[in-house]
Amino acid sequence: RFLKAAEELNPELTAYITLTREAALKTADDVDKKIQKGEELQPLEGIPFCLKDNISTKGLRTTCASRMLEDYTPIYDAAVWESLKGQNAVIIGKGNMDEFAMGSTCENSYFGGAKNPRNLGHVAGGSSGGVAAAVAGNLAVYGIGSDTGGSIRMPASFCGLVGLKPTYGAVSRRGLIAYGSSLDQIGPIAACTEDAAAVFDEICAKDPLDMTSEGSEPVSDKLTGSVRGLRIGLAKEFFDGLPESVRRPLDEAVDLYRKLGAELVELEFPLLKYVLPTYYIIACAEASSNLGRYDGLRYGHRASAFDDLNDFICRTRSEGFGQEVRRRILLGAYVLSAGYYDAYYNKAQLLRKSIKNEFSKMFSRCDVLLTPTVPVTALKSGAGMTPVQMYQTDICTCSVNIAGLPAVSLPCGHDGKGLPVGMQLIGDKFSEDVVLNASLAFE
Ligand code: GLN
Repeated sequence: RFLKAAEELNPELTAYITLTREAALKTADDVDKKIQKGEELQPLEGIPFCLKDNISTKGLRTTCASRMLEDYTPIYDAAVWESLKGQNAVIIGKGNMDEFAMGSTCENSYFGGAKNPRNLGHVAGGSSGGVAAAVAGNLAVYGIGSDTGGSIRMPASFCGLVGLKPTYGAVSRRGLIAYGSSLDQIGPIAACTEDAAAVFDEICAKDPLDMTSEGSEPVSDKLTGSVRGLRIGLAKEFFDGLPESVRRPLDEAVDLYRKLGAELVELEFPLLKYVLPTYYIIACAEASSNLGRYDGLRYGHRASAFDDLNDFICRTRSEGFGQEVRRRILLGAYVLSAGYYDAYYNKAQLLRKSIKNEFSKMFSRCDVLLTPTVPVTALKSGAGMTPVQMYQTDICTCSVNIAGLPAVSLPCGHDGKGLPVGMQLIGDKFSEDVVLNASLAFE
């Protein structure tokens, strides 16, 4: 049924870049046989899902929504896909995204942006927009996305879903096509908190083949749905300049938490104003290094007409990468270059330390921080934002990646025009159970 819905609706939604009909039907068949034999099933066995197209799948095309990898088929599986495949999770297809996960609308996809199933004239958010569109449009039960600066939480917010960005190191990054390696983290997008928790439990194992992997305890069994005595921090900077349509549902959420017995704590996060430059310097620097491998010599797109080796690499990269990716490679190479390294990259690293410290200070006074996920609701498709305007939509999400923290986005109401408003709950490292529990209590 999900595959059929995906095949029917995908031409309009562009939630999937590739539909994996054969793999889906084969797995579904295997699960069916087990059911007939009366064998016990594992938690995600037989459940249809969408996998973001920057997560490597052996034998299944993995494009990163880029012309550079349009015809690329990985020769190995990502760790998360290995775990899910191992328990017969049914892959419906590879989810649409901004090219190389760079963007906030999904419109940077080489294959055209995913539409928002809540309102087709609006974007699904980015970068994991296709994954969110698949779940919101009932083309998958849940999805797996990646989040470098908000890419799970923003589309979850725009599409009225629950998205969890786990603690850095909780989920293996092996086989995730790298964007900003010190920020990237894989996590679930689902219709409700319990689903997100159930998926997290299946992907949070420690992976000896990812040296930054630490793994995490499963969380589902720890969820009580009670927030009595929980200290919820509100840092006023996150709420500055919020439009009334986003502010109102958030205020109502705060009231509800108070009624449920949580204690509200007023906090300050003065460094928020440095978060965007810090994030974009670090993310672009790491991207410029990570994307160096696409030179046309190893794999991926190759220019067909060229003068010499330099010209070949230059043409390959100019043809293969879209405008935003090229912009970020240039930015990244610039901030890392001799002469500018100290002025930009080094400062960003120092600020990263200070931002982490500010979070530690806040977490000495509260258990979770409540913020908006995005200061706006889903933008109209083709709104034509400037790059800086687009970067500004990440203001509430990317500090979480800078500090390696877990955060969930969950729907907390509507903006008055029928578009969902997302609320973000940020926790201290490895407190996925605390943020998900607060999310469950609100639901
Ligand atoms: N919008 C942010 C960016 O473009 C975040 C993307 C992400 O988390 N992958 O970098």
